[in-house]
Amino acid sequence: MIRNLNFRRPINTCFLITAIVLSIACASVLAIQWHEVKTTSQRQNLRYLQNLASYTEKYLAGYESILDETIRQLASHTQGKIRGDDVLRHWLFERYNTMPDTRSLVYADLEGRFVRLPNVVLNEHTQKELDPRDKIWFTEAIRDDFDSTHYTSSRDIFDNGISTLTLSKALINGEDGKKLGVLAVRLNRESTTDILSSARSPLPGKKWITDVNGKLIASEDGAINPLALAEVARRQNHPNPYFYLPDTDKWYFYSAIGDTDWILVHEVHNRDLNSLVLTRSLNVIYCLIFALLALLVCWWMVRLSLNALYIRIANGIRNGSIEQKAAEVLLYEEIHNTSVQQETIKNEALTDGLTELKNRRAFDNDIEFLQQSSDLRLAIVDIDNFKAINDTYGHAVGDMVLKTVSDIGLRLRGLDNITLYRYGGEEIAVLFQNMGMEESRAFLERWRVACEQRRFREANLRVTFSGGIATKGTMSVEDTLIQADRRLYEAKHGGKNRIVDGAEAYA
Ligand code: GH3
Ligand code: MG
Ligand code: MG
Repeated sequence: MIRNLNFRRPINTCFLITAIVLSIACASVLAIQWHEVKTTSQRQNLRYLQNLASYTEKYLAGYESILDETIRQLASHTQGKIRGDDVLRHWLFERYNTMPDTRSLVYADLEGRFVRLPNVVLNEHTQKELDPRDKIWFTEAIRDDFDSTHYTSSRDIFDNGISTLTLSKALINGEDGKKLGVLAVRLNRESTTDILSSARSPLPGKKWITDVNGKLIASEDGAINPLALAEVARRQNHPNPYFYLPDTDKWYFYSAIGDTDWILVHEVHNRDLNSLVLTRSLNVIYCLIFALLALLVCWWMVRLSLNALYIRIANGIRNGSIEQKAAEVLLYEEIHNTSVQQETIKNEALTDGLTELKNRRAFDNDIEFLQQSSDLRLAIVDIDNFKAINDTYGHAVGDMVLKTVSDIGLRLRGLDNITLYRYGGEEIAVLFQNMGMEESRAFLERWRVACEQRRFREANLRVTFSGGIATKGTMSVEDTLIQADRRLYEAKHGGKNRIVDGAEAYA
């Protein structure tokens, strides 16, 4: 039973299971949240990069349209011929002034002649170095069958060999469709890289522009990992425009810049992405930790308060000092003691205090359950001349006589199927169950004789009793009782100190 009262184990188990379930739920929520935040961050960064690519595209497209327009006018103005005069230079100079980020403007024809703005003076070195027909911006534009603008990264030997972004396009003779030369706009690289850092990205990291062949065009700063360049070039038309490179532990987001061959790439450290995800997941993590802590506090409080409660209950029941025992031991003892007390109270309620026989209430209770029983006998025994005993020897002696008669009856009874009740005053009811008339009567006779022969300290005190006995048979218990009472009356009238059973009376 003590084990049943031990509340700590079920509480511990209950809270442990709750904590485990909560932890699993927390871990799952966190994993889902982590994945979602990571995906969202990646998507946001990609959107940012696409916006930046389209901004860059618009920027370049502005120069592309200026280039188109200039070529169109140049075709009609000069038919692409450089005649050695300053007319073309002058005309180009006006165009050059409308292009703020342009470092230089070059027109070169198929014979290797060229006009450059700002003007340059050729020396031995540059003379040797310079044949525009060897330059990539020139060859690509000439080779192109579709008359499109070419974006290249090239070095300008007249400008300290500085690397520029070059937009070049072939000039075509409107009449025969022959290519006459190439017009090139060299843009300030700083302007382009300024664009790359113009808007703050959701994730920190270097941005650069590469072409579809994996050649670096422009970069915010520093060298670019060749693996990343190669991978971006390899992943053209891949559905997922970002990837992770374990070698560099970096993510690469990329977006094509309009119709150009250029790709804008954003390089993000994995740890930066993770720290952003961690920051965004912190609320969930705090909530989860708080829930676990709250559970722990609840567990501790329930343990404390239940322990205190059990001790208080036990203390209240006992209403005395509490020994240093476990609460469940105290509780067990109190419940046990209480059950013993209740049993005692119950017995006392059904027992006569003087004679220790069962009392009238017990008699009424018992016969109620015996209404259907037929093998049943009832006797009423009444002490003879009891009033006289009281009057002669006093009430205390009367009590003693009553107790003595009862004790003799109880002693002689011996069998469980004879029950004695103090029926009222000095009358005792006897219940015989499953006993024949002879046996029942024999008991009463033994008892009567024992009382008759009993000697008391009081001089001349003699105690006898009379009795009437009746068999229930098919009668009700009440009628049996009436019959027994009638026979008792007969016994009294017959001279007392005898038992009447309806057949004959013994003296
Ligand atoms: P009978 O032989 O006809 O039975 O006469 P009796 O005197 O015994 O009968 P009666 O009914 O006249 O007297 C019974 C007396 O028993 C009356 C009452 O004072 C007394 N008595 C009843 N209960 C107790 C008791 O518990 N103790 C004592 N001492 N006397 C009791
Ligand atoms: Mg009486
Ligand atoms: Mg009497």
